[in-house]
Amino acid sequence: MLMHIGGKEYEGGEGHWIEVKNPATGELVDRVPAGTKEDVSAAVDAAEAAFRLWGKKSMRERGIILFHAAHIVRDQHRDLARLLTLEQGKPIRESVDEIRGFANILEFYAGISAHSSGDVIRLGSAGDCMVIRESFGVCGAIIPWNMPVLIMGWKVGPALLAGNTLVLKPASATPLTSLKLAGILDSAGLLPGVLNVVTGSGESVGEAIVKHPVIRKLSFTGDCATGTKIRALAGAHCKDLTLELGGSDPMIVMPDASIEKAVEGAIRGRFYNAGQTCTAVKRLYVHEKISSLFIQKLKERIDAITVGNGLGSRIDMGPMNNAAQRDTISQLVEETRENKEGTILTGGSSLKGTAYEHGYFYRPTLVSNVVPGSGLVSREVFGPVLPVMTFPDLDTAINEANNTRYGLGASIWTKDLATTKRVFDEVRAGIIWVNRHLTVPPEVPFGGVNESGVGRENGQHALDNYSRTKTLFLGW
Ligand code: NDP
Repeated sequence: MLMHIGGKEYEGGEGHWIEVKNPATGELVDRVPAGTKEDVSAAVDAAEAAFRLWGKKSMRERGIILFHAAHIVRDQHRDLARLLTLEQGKPIRESVDEIRGFANILEFYAGISAHSSGDVIRLGSAGDCMVIRESFGVCGAIIPWNMPVLIMGWKVGPALLAGNTLVLKPASATPLTSLKLAGILDSAGLLPGVLNVVTGSGESVGEAIVKHPVIRKLSFTGDCATGTKIRALAGAHCKDLTLELGGSDPMIVMPDASIEKAVEGAIRGRFYNAGQTCTAVKRLYVHEKISSLFIQKLKERIDAITVGNGLGSRIDMGPMNNAAQRDTISQLVEETRENKEGTILTGGSSLKGTAYEHGYFYRPTLVSNVVPGSGLVSREVFGPVLPVMTFPDLDTAINEANNTRYGLGASIWTKDLATTKRVFDEVRAGIIWVNRHLTVPPEVPFGGVNESGVGRENGQHALDNYSRTKTLFLGW
């Protein structure tokens, strides 16, 4: 597939290509151009030209186009989901969820387009002020490979509704659905150049987007180290920035919780998308009173997870997306084993056998007795490995939950209101779930504290983040 610039297919890349391979089989799915900084400049020029007309449309007009696009995405969800599974590896059912999630986001923003307004500040004899929100112009977005469609939606929906145009770089492992979706958005009525997708490496295309002087607003989702680098580059030119840099979400289970529901919550929370989710359950804390029964049920449930090619039927978990991820996870588990920093109750290795030979499959893994501060709890474990710890009282659980540099999400499983209130008040995170984990519908603001990032995606908050106030002061 070619890049998508100015409403057209665009080759660029000076004849160099990136191969996109199926993580389940190692087979070539397609290839995309390895873009350059000149290609980023071409995309910015197209976006700047498109902004002159797009920025002048009313929000309602822009919303109608997003709504049409959502309709086409829903119509084509099967083909899009298949393509997503081919490039990302997740089970087809999860790909369908993600494609529908993208449509939900566009529809949400289309829906709020009618309610957008500004403020009037009355200052008596000094005058009156009219405060409106204006768009930035051309924005830049850099997205990862774990949820490429949903995260694209989180950026495209609010950025375009607010009147901006966009230059977006997908991850090199998963550029295909982004390119398809850009074509669909154009066919729904976007002006050519409103949404441009430039493929290529982080070092060339990503950094060129961050440094381009016309781009005043950037949004990035990915690794903490990459985010820190981007922040330094963007900060040098005072650019506005939204960063979502992952997390190490704790899940706390109290003795009064429904064990069945909490076990299912932990399974979905950790093993959805093969554990490659920013708000996955990455540290599970279970009260001592129920821990042995809970861990036994959890292990049984983990052993029942079927792993295989995401295109297959009845597959619960696909491969990991790439070799680097699988190797990082494998090394962490090996270190845990060698340093006796935990007991591996199930899993703990790659899958063997011909069906798994060329894919990045890792077995769903449960580790108990994890030593505090060891790699499995101090790092962001981005794969299907669940460390489970026990605690004697709520104070200890809250202290452990906060013992991280991250602060994206957290969940408390209880029926008790006072416990809920304490966790809500004292655990440092952008979202606290009660008796659930992972769900983030488009209405709900999403983002972290501490090293999990800055700014919020989703909801009205994201729309505000893609615009800035401008004031007209009327001194009568
Ligand atoms: P990266 O941060 O490297 O990749 C995310 C995106 O940033 C990709 O599009 C990548 O491009 C791009 N990028 C890479 N380097 C630069 C740069 N210097 N300037 C601008 N853009 C850049 O994450 P990884 O894929 O390496 O994953 C590593 C770890 O990050 C994971 O193990 C996980 O812990 C965390 N992560 C967190 C995510 C989250 O949702 N918060 C999502 C993905 C990863 P390219 O693909 O071409 O390298």
